[in-house]
Amino acid sequence: MARRNKNNVIKNLLVDSYAAEGKSVAHLEDGKVIFIENAIPGDRVDVRIVKDKKSWAEGKVEMLIAASKQRIEPFCEHFGLCGGCKWQMLPYSLQLQYKQQQVYDQLNRIGKLTLPTLLPIIGSEHTTYYRNKLEFTFSNQRYRTIEEIKERSDKFEPEPALGFHAPGLFDKVVPINQCYLQGGITSQLLQWLKGYTIERGYSYYDARRHEGMFRNVIIRVATTGDVLVNLIFGTEDEGIINETMDALYAQFPAITSLHYTINTKLNDSIYDLDVVPYKGKPFIIEKLGEYSFKISPKSFFQTNSLQATVLYNVVAAFAGLTGSEVVYDLYCGTGSIGIYCSAGAKRVIGIELIEDAIKDAKENASLNGLTNCTFYFGDVAALYNDSLLQQHGKPDVIITDPPRAGMSEKLINQLIHIKAPKVVYVSCNPATQARDLQLLEGIYAITKVQPVDMFPHTHHIENVALLELK
Ligand code: SAH
Repeated sequence: MARRNKNNVIKNLLVDSYAAEGKSVAHLEDGKVIFIENAIPGDRVDVRIVKDKKSWAEGKVEMLIAASKQRIEPFCEHFGLCGGCKWQMLPYSLQLQYKQQQVYDQLNRIGKLTLPTLLPIIGSEHTTYYRNKLEFTFSNQRYRTIEEIKERSDKFEPEPALGFHAPGLFDKVVPINQCYLQGGITSQLLQWLKGYTIERGYSYYDARRHEGMFRNVIIRVATTGDVLVNLIFGTEDEGIINETMDALYAQFPAITSLHYTINTKLNDSIYDLDVVPYKGKPFIIEKLGEYSFKISPKSFFQTNSLQATVLYNVVAAFAGLTGSEVVYDLYCGTGSIGIYCSAGAKRVIGIELIEDAIKDAKENASLNGLTNCTFYFGDVAALYNDSLLQQHGKPDVIITDPPRAGMSEKLINQLIHIKAPKVVYVSCNPATQARDLQLLEGIYAITKVQPVDMFPHTHHIENVALLELK
């Protein structure tokens, strides 16, 4: 029987199933549920309890005693330290199975919704090099493993690192040599930047003291071959900036759009900063199907371009457009779903909170020569009202793609009042999707559900549901 020792470690627990959000579960004999990170069903583990409630607890694997037969060898040398692709120990087919199960659990078992048979999840054709955007961090504090710390009693000197933040630690960085999330020049560029800056003794950012020259690098690669690099500096030193930017551009002719940004703020976000175009075009072009999209350094764009096309094909198929429909694209971002579906619609009206995204959406519509798309910025619950409907017509189809928090209750009440014949609900969080669907269940039947995997080797899920007026 599993017992807890005085160090809060429960020994020899059998992990029995997958729960949600990347966590698996083990059950104690008294029925208590233990949620465990970085373990998979079939593992036998010692678990350190980090959060303890009456009927459940959360724990971390202290020791893997016997590995599940399902485990495979992770392919990346950074697995375990880097927070990027935490599911590499699971075969891809099992990742998909868990995601499918998760959608079913949230919608049916927990949400108690009446559902059609779920369509089998569509896997990503590419399971590596699928991200079109990555942000790396320069830090003067390399992340040290527990083993490294145990081996030394004296204090470590700071050591520069270029890579990803260690999970949960804002000031420590795990150095990345090669990242399987993005192909093209990315890994070479990291190596080069590291060599170049260290050779010259340039400082890396210290996130506690808020000082240091090199801070972040954002790399975006498009399926068109376009490459955008934005190098972010923590100090304004024109000499170093110009010299580094010139050297970078000369070294990597593949870069089609080179920018830099000076960020002396306390946080890493660049959305409120000026991004300075340095060489090449000020943007890159990505293509989804036959449509082109302009991506500027600050634009939001679906991060897995190839799978975005697959996702949008599902949305278009669910919408079933014939050319005569009025379509509202709620939470439209840079308008990509609406634009992708525009050929089948009489008119597309998109709404999005971020003004810059709407600027991009309008440009994208004109880049594709579209005259039937209109975009508005503002809170969707405030804008999507009877007067907008009077102006543009009642919806035949509503496409909604809210952030993880789901739709607001105010918007849901408007949807109930408006009664569009069809709603296509795209969600990156089946738990909030289930909650919203419960509220809509009175007037809508869920007629199709299609999970799509946008993020291989992570537990993140995308799910599309078609609702038809009862
Ligand atoms: N449909 C887009 C983006 C979806 S992400 C695509 O496929 O690319 C969700 C979007 O909702 C984000 O762009 C976010 O800025 C926007 N958003 C969040 N809250 C909002 C609100 N209250 N009103 C309008 N848009 C909102």
